[in-house]
Amino acid sequence: MGIEDCTILHLDMDAFFASVEVRDDPSLQGLPVVVGGAGNHGVVAAASYPARARGISSAMPMAIARRRAPDLVIVPPRIDVYREVSARVMDLLREVTPAIEQISVDEAFLDVAGARRLFGPPDRIAQRLRSRIREELDLPSSVGGSVSRAVAKIASARAKPDGMLIVPAEQTASFLAPLPVGVISGIGPKAQQALERLGVRTVGQLRDVPASALRRAVGPQAPMIATLAAGEDRTGLGTRVRDRSVGTERTYEHDLVDPAEVRRRLTVMADEVSRSLRRSDLAARAVSVKLRAPDGTTITRSATMDQPTASGERLREHVVALWDREVPRMPAVRLAGVRAERLQETSSHPTATELTGRGTGWGGLESAMDRARDRFGSESLTRGSTLEPREG
Ligand SMILES: [Mg+2]
Repeated sequence: MGIEDCTILHLDMDAFFASVEVRDDPSLQGLPVVVGGAGNHGVVAAASYPARARGISSAMPMAIARRRAPDLVIVPPRIDVYREVSARVMDLLREVTPAIEQISVDEAFLDVAGARRLFGPPDRIAQRLRSRIREELDLPSSVGGSVSRAVAKIASARAKPDGMLIVPAEQTASFLAPLPVGVISGIGPKAQQALERLGVRTVGQLRDVPASALRRAVGPQAPMIATLAAGEDRTGLGTRVRDRSVGTERTYEHDLVDPAEVRRRLTVMADEVSRSLRRSDLAARAVSVKLRAPDGTTITRSATMDQPTASGERLREHVVALWDREVPRMPAVRLAGVRAERLQETSSHPTATELTGRGTGWGGLESAMDRARDRFGSESLTRGSTLEPREG
């Protein structure tokens, strides 16, 4: 085992939207640049490294970013340009291997096992990819490598900016040990707080948490997280567990006989489910509604989405449609539930389509708002917030 076996690479562009803007307007070099809506309710979609040095991060409300850097340069998003650059990045990756899994506009996993014969060991492939992106697109990127997709992603984040970090299997446990538990996707702010109450801050400390306590703190992903913390995860591309689901259900003391009341409760549950998806960076391809009549008859109905989503608005639409169809058969409801199914991981960054608010709905913006709420505890973020694409 060594670098040769680290065939899972995670390539991530650095401060992608902001880097594209600085590239196209060199007078912005070295300045605190953010991409996002300049209005009062704008949210930072991307922050340059000089902006980050001032404590500005993506998903931050623009008002806070302005306070931290009075000389902030706010550039409106140019979605079409980012999409074009993104396509060129992905084309460069495909020249090395077809085994690619793109997870957002600026991020992809590659399995370079089959490319080694032609291009050399994974570290040389990673270096080659980074220099081609630099030469042809004039943009910085970082690459992490490992035998595990989860570790590759953590490594690319540690390699930033403009770096590379390959973690051999036998060094994984010691690499992860000092890192904060939040580096693990699947450990969101809530789980972090729960772990902190157990005195656990680092991945190394996670290893000493008994299975039952870990499950209480982080939920059903506990076994996966324990394996990862032990440095034993070997999950590569295409071998992920896709049959996980996230759901909630309630049994009512009294029968619900008003269809509007049932609809309202289902939409509340759809929102809860969508929030927990976003907390874990997951998106669902299907959503189901479970209904139980007072006589115990239970039905489950599900709908498939055109695209994986974590958007509350999307889930609500489908849940309401499923309920409206069942109303005639369900004059009274004793139990109702909503479950998101066929889950897959998403990037924690909003995608270009999400930023425009077209196509996939407001998924990216919603998760940006969740993170802003988690981080800044703002009560004032509302759905009025928008990220407008550049006009004219
Ligand atoms: Mg990135």
